[in-house]
Amino acid sequence: MRFLPRLIVLPVLLSFLTVRAAGAQPVIAPDADPRVAQLVASVSQDRLRSLATTLVGFGTRETMSNTTSPTRGIGAARQWILDELKRSSPRLQVSFDTHVIAPQGRITAKTELRNVMAVLPGRTARRIYITGHYDSLNLGAGGQQALNAAGGSNPQANANFNHDAEAPGANDDGSGTVLTMELARVFAESGLQFDATLVFMCWSGEEQGLIGSAAHAQALAAQKIAIEANLNNDIVGNSRGGNGVVDAETVRVYSVGPEDSMSRSLARYVARVAAIYVPSHRIRLMAREDRFGRGSDHSSMTKLGFPAVVFREANESFSKQHTANDTLDGVDFAYLAQNARVNAAVAASIALAPAAPAVVNDRGANLLTRGPSGYDAELKWNASPGAVAYRVYWRDTWTNDWQHRQTIGNATSFVLPNVSIDDFVFGVAAVGADGHESLVSAYVSPVRQSADVKVVK
Ligand SMILES: [Zn+2]
Repeated sequence: MRFLPRLIVLPVLLSFLTVRAAGAQPVIAPDADPRVAQLVASVSQDRLRSLATTLVGFGTRETMSNTTSPTRGIGAARQWILDELKRSSPRLQVSFDTHVIAPQGRITAKTELRNVMAVLPGRTARRIYITGHYDSLNLGAGGQQALNAAGGSNPQANANFNHDAEAPGANDDGSGTVLTMELARVFAESGLQFDATLVFMCWSGEEQGLIGSAAHAQALAAQKIAIEANLNNDIVGNSRGGNGVVDAETVRVYSVGPEDSMSRSLARYVARVAAIYVPSHRIRLMAREDRFGRGSDHSSMTKLGFPAVVFREANESFSKQHTANDTLDGVDFAYLAQNARVNAAVAASIALAPAAPAVVNDRGANLLTRGPSGYDAELKWNASPGAVAYRVYWRDTWTNDWQHRQTIGNATSFVLPNVSIDDFVFGVAAVGADGHESLVSAYVSPVRQSADVKVVK
């Protein structure tokens, strides 16, 4: 117990990272980077509105809607998204990410599905994704509310389902789409050189079962390309709930467990960074994959082991979702802009930081031991390129966020003397020369395997 008083003092003393420039006095890097603050401030509420206005003008963006009309349907919509991304900055590499989907489930005919992708190359191939789905849906009478009712069966699988019905999808997920498009512009035009490569992706086929994101993620996994973090945005623009509750200052962030998954680490990171750059916005972390019975494209990532979270407005209006009533008047663009700023701050911070250190060996075993005394916590990790320091975190096992942290130098091991590895959760983050910090990699207690006891019958 004698280390407990130090726990109170150390985080205060060591909460500032000291970076020693050549021949200069030590420099304290503040938590806020003015370059990130400027990037966050350049998110334009007016442009979000203007993009959303054009987007709903295509009438429907249903995945199997018209692809040949120049003015209506998913074909015209995806071409406009592609052209608009190209127009927004010459630094963006814009393309269709095309997959031919065989009939299955709610995809009732062979469908050429196109995600729209804008890549902002970084110094490294590390990939950070900001995403929303541009396809929309009109489920017919009752919309999502009818489907929410117990026993509702999805009419999309019916042969006579109308794929060209009016489906403006202003909020679901026009909001996430224009957020993604606006951040593509903001990041590209910031002039910043990021360590990570940023990918701004507008998915299709979400309403048929996360088809576009799944096809993309599967293709990446087959090529052994990893996604380091995905900020998914789906239904993030409405501030007036169907129950009358108004809240334009909160956003929900869902992340799948277990509690020290990298998705949970990403969620904690969102809360920490948002408090620095968008302090008036409340981040409500949700320790579950998504809302009851609902889903989105972040699950295509987590299914393959890529960390992801989904942003969801604080109070939904179910009666508008998946109907012709999901119109522009249900989007609060000031609120949407705040959610876009949170995404911007988080993605910029991760992309400017080194990669999170690996805390497992190549066989997946964690690098946490009781050395050197047999009663200590000895943490080891692999060095992250570009890191100048590391920050060690720990907390009681019965809590869900870090309680203590200690910034250490450029080392790849650290000992907390007489701290039991049985009684705390530990993690480590890498810190770059500008003070930007990676996600925290936690040491996860391995699941113990055991066979059934053999009983003589
Ligand atoms: Zn959606």
